[in-house]
Amino acid sequence: MRYTYKFLMFIGLFLPVLGVAQTGELANDLKEHVRILASPEFEGRGLGTDGIEMARTYIEAQFEEAGLEQIGDSYFHDFKIRIGLAWVPGRNIVGKIPGSDPELRDEVIVIGAHYDHLGYAVRDGQKVIYHGADDNASGTATLMELAHYFSANRENLGRTIVFVAFDAEESGLWGARWFLRDSLVAHDQIRTMFSLDMVGMYEEYGGLDLKGMGTLAGGVDMAKSLAETRGINLKNTGAQIERRTDTWPFGSIGVPAIHAFTGLVSPYHQPEDTYDLLDYEGMAEIKWFLADLVAEMSTAEDLEPSDRFLASTRREDGRVVEIRRPFFEYGISLHNGSGFHRHRNEFFRARSSYNFAGGLFAQFNLSNRFTLQPEVLYDYNGSKWEEGSFRRHSVTVPLNVQFNFAQIENEFRAFLFAGGYYRYNFGGKVAGESIDYDAGFEDTEFGINFGIGVEIIRLHLGWTMRRGMTDLNQDGGSLGSIRDVNSLFTVGVTF
Ligand SMILES: [Zn+2]
Repeated sequence: MRYTYKFLMFIGLFLPVLGVAQTGELANDLKEHVRILASPEFEGRGLGTDGIEMARTYIEAQFEEAGLEQIGDSYFHDFKIRIGLAWVPGRNIVGKIPGSDPELRDEVIVIGAHYDHLGYAVRDGQKVIYHGADDNASGTATLMELAHYFSANRENLGRTIVFVAFDAEESGLWGARWFLRDSLVAHDQIRTMFSLDMVGMYEEYGGLDLKGMGTLAGGVDMAKSLAETRGINLKNTGAQIERRTDTWPFGSIGVPAIHAFTGLVSPYHQPEDTYDLLDYEGMAEIKWFLADLVAEMSTAEDLEPSDRFLASTRREDGRVVEIRRPFFEYGISLHNGSGFHRHRNEFFRARSSYNFAGGLFAQFNLSNRFTLQPEVLYDYNGSKWEEGSFRRHSVTVPLNVQFNFAQIENEFRAFLFAGGYYRYNFGGKVAGESIDYDAGFEDTEFGINFGIGVEIIRLHLGWTMRRGMTDLNQDGGSLGSIRDVNSLFTVGVTF
């Protein structure tokens, strides 16, 4: 009851001004939305909290105030998600403004922003609230202001706009998944989708990302020219669907989907993500710019996926069933482990010593099953034996084929790999003396690699075995061959 009373006070005091507000006025309205949604009473808008219920009521009131039409008999779209053993209720808030063009009004642009956040934790008997101001009260506030704006300027819209405040994004994009599973809008009617997720740091980030703008044919040019008119600094506009926000379920069924984003500059997923840190002037500029962009998209003759986006999709019976990994990716990796030398004579058999390598890798995703991965590594390797240690500086160039034996969408894959390597040795010491590559030791070496790894979004973890197939020594004939063996744990990141 206490909450309800306070809530009514909020509504009464802070109803945003309808119509065309000046940027300063709009910035104030946005700030009020964020202040309320990110206030302690809303308890970090975690699933199952009373606070998230207050957020739902607030957003519903805003949609109603804006005059959005309902889909079905309320603004609510209910679903359930399973978390551990419990079924937790989730609730999207959905409203629409029908397009004014009889030719285009059956086509839909979805504008979404998730309103849920992480909730709160209890530490030492104290409630620690994750306020989630930038993530994502900022996007929710912008969504509500766009709803007000378009409701008052319906004649600017050709196509129908569906506004969705998504729930349960943080726990796995469930609101967006259920919106599609329950076909609130027929999938083939959805021409494009926006996820406004973290848009409160325009100045600090130095611009706005529209990730995935290139999934829409002509999208990047349209956005760039409108951004120029508005004086918006547009940073990233790729043709890849962002996996970490509600764009992903839409992209996965072939809908061009765009993530509006001002970077990870706020205290991301920390209790300190509070309303006083955000750039509300910047949010107002973003809202004006998005209003221009959506209006132009809603009246454009065609709104189609770009060729680049189409080429990245796999179809069955004409239906998109999968988004391919981008053909080319690259990153850095570090390898830590041990090495030793194999010799047929027991006397020369070496004990293992610490080995280290680091460098760059590239990935050519030939299909969803096979990836070709060349690497260039600085490699510090060697072993220990009776007369001292053997340490080499080398450049190692492995080339592996990875076979993906398990994957989940393209956020996770597990793979086995095998291939060969070339190694060039250029320095080091053996038993305290410099290694002589002119006489005694070979400066080049070939061998095989194999191992196993996983890739989780951008993080790579794995284990690599390398076995030299050529001799370390030039006079291997008389001594018998000595070959290098490395066992390495790998950590890598793709950019
Ligand atoms: Zn978010």
